[in-house]
Amino acid sequence: MASYKAPLTDMQFLLEEVFDAAGLFASMPETEEVSADLIRAILEEMGKMAESLLAPINGSGDQLACQFEGGRVTTPPGFKEAYDAYAEGGWTSLTGAVEYGGQGMPKLLSAMIEEIAFGANSSFALYTVLTTGATLVLKLHGSEELRRSYLPPMYAGRWSGTMCLTEPHAGTDLGLIRTRATPRADNSYSLTGTKIFITAGEHDLTENIIHLVLAKLPDAPAGPAGISLFLVPKLVVDGQGGLTDQSNNVLCGSIEHKMGIKASATCVMNFEDSQAFLVGEPNKGLAQLFSMMNYERLTMGLQGNGLAENSFQVASEYAKERLQGRAASGPVAADKAADPIIVHPDVRRMLLTMRANIMAGRALSIFSASQLDIARFHPDAEARAKAERLVAFLIPVQKAYCSDRGYDSCTLGQQVLGGHGYVAEWGLEQNVRDARIAQIYEGANGIQALDLMGRKTVRSNGALLQELLEALADDVADAASRQALAPQLAALKDCQGRLEACAREVIDAAGDDPDAIGAASYPFLELAGLTLFAFMWLRIMEAAHTALEQPEADQDYLLGLIHTGEFFFARMLPRSTSLAQEIAAGSATLMAMAAEQF
Ligand SMILES: Cc1cc2nc3c(=O)[nH]c(=O)nc-3n(C[C@H](O)[C@H](O)[C@H](O)COP(=O)(O)OP(=O)(O)OC[C@H]3O[C@@H](n4cnc5c(N)ncnc54)[C@H](O)[C@@H]3O)c2cc1C
Repeated sequence: MASYKAPLTDMQFLLEEVFDAAGLFASMPETEEVSADLIRAILEEMGKMAESLLAPINGSGDQLACQFEGGRVTTPPGFKEAYDAYAEGGWTSLTGAVEYGGQGMPKLLSAMIEEIAFGANSSFALYTVLTTGATLVLKLHGSEELRRSYLPPMYAGRWSGTMCLTEPHAGTDLGLIRTRATPRADNSYSLTGTKIFITAGEHDLTENIIHLVLAKLPDAPAGPAGISLFLVPKLVVDGQGGLTDQSNNVLCGSIEHKMGIKASATCVMNFEDSQAFLVGEPNKGLAQLFSMMNYERLTMGLQGNGLAENSFQVASEYAKERLQGRAASGPVAADKAADPIIVHPDVRRMLLTMRANIMAGRALSIFSASQLDIARFHPDAEARAKAERLVAFLIPVQKAYCSDRGYDSCTLGQQVLGGHGYVAEWGLEQNVRDARIAQIYEGANGIQALDLMGRKTVRSNGALLQELLEALADDVADAASRQALAPQLAALKDCQGRLEACAREVIDAAGDDPDAIGAASYPFLELAGLTLFAFMWLRIMEAAHTALEQPEADQDYLLGLIHTGEFFFARMLPRSTSLAQEIAAGSATLMAMAAEQF
């Protein structure tokens, strides 16, 4: 059975040949030391860590799962040791702010680290990415005192973090939350309420757990405008970053028994008059939290990619070895009882679809992460503002489209193995189960689509889309002059035209039909995702053609990329036509049926 290998060749090709990551970092003073050599060394180290420590406990973690007893959660065997080694290796502080003990690395690099971690062991990865998210919020909005007390031990991996938003009656609609915080005399607050589905809410990996909790102050306005953000430690902290053994009445009520990511603890958390500290301004909690949401959502898209890569590695090896039937054009392994199933067009369809989605998804993730880095590190305010606008459009697409295509790819991988994909032995059914959640959490994908269609497209009157398309057109300028890519360029232009026309149709319809945005949102997101993947493939193909001109070029690898790109344009991009038709159908057939007719 193939064991997970970090996809370093693909990552390096994208980072070096397609996106020139080192060139981007060199152009910004805060990242100028992140050279191509450093990127390569970090990715190689992470690859070793993932292959030797994280992948080996992925299957056992799934089978043994987290255990809950007497309010305590025990992670499966090996998780604590792997976590300690991960923290010891400095991986928990990679993107942290330098002034509080972090390494200040850009998101573009950590995005690849996250993809590898998710590919090797998604449950494990979640413990680390949640902490990264919490530290980001704290760095952006916490007081200096909170930052000094909490960031260093969190970066060091001694304390972990959570995001506590969801309540039993408040998921997507966070305006409904009931958790309350009342002021105490000492400037802290007393926080009471129940949160559900809290990833890493309780576990045995770290000595303390720092919860970032959404709650309402006594006189808060109703709805989302009345939500504040609080920091609530599991164990009381002494103010100098030291721990006391005093409980803060943060109690885990139970853990969920769920479809996948079984080694990730998903907890019901009860806060009972727990000591809490306001983060940022009162009633601005949701906006503050959303300032880091783009980072977290990008991460969830990477979960889809990572698991798809894991499935592809197994499925492509299997397809070269499994002997069933004969090639339609005559035997290719005449000395054997049958040919390997990779000779069959339908098996190739599945593998090529997976590969096309994985590579474009990874490229889109890199492109999105590079915009997050420009928005954060670029010395020029105008460049930062432009990158923020691109990010606003890109992230809902990246999160939803990469997690959807990641899940699809995992089921395709399962299908390549036939019945052997359905049984536990090969790990592909686990990947399907583990990938499913990325479509749901951090804002269900339907909500990403609504955000893209409503806030990002209709509300900006199409301006964000236009700005992104112009930036992308600049990036494919080289491909535009290469004759070999003329058919792909023409197909991309058609698809882009369809996307622009659909945006205009919905913008026009939205004034008269209140359901126009919701009705168009999902196919619009898919059309946007497909178009962005086409831009990514054109860039990849152009870079592959350029690399092929070098004397030492790895012909097999580069031709493989070009063939996959040709497959994408010929057999996947045409779906843009039916998506455009679906959008044009409007809301009538969706809204015609009465609720009782369902
Ligand atoms: C394993 C796991 C881990 C999680 N980790 C965390 C965590 O660490 N912290 C945390 O706070 N939460 C966490 N969650 C919660 C997760 O973010 C929510 O489940 C998710 O946001 C959806 O909320 P909900 O389940 O209440 O669904 P609902 O909000 O009830 O939505 C149900 C369906 O209706 C759709 N829908 C809802 N409103 C609209 C609308 N206005 N328009 C169109 N469609 C709509 C949604 O897209 C969805 O398909 C986790 C959940 C799981 C299962």
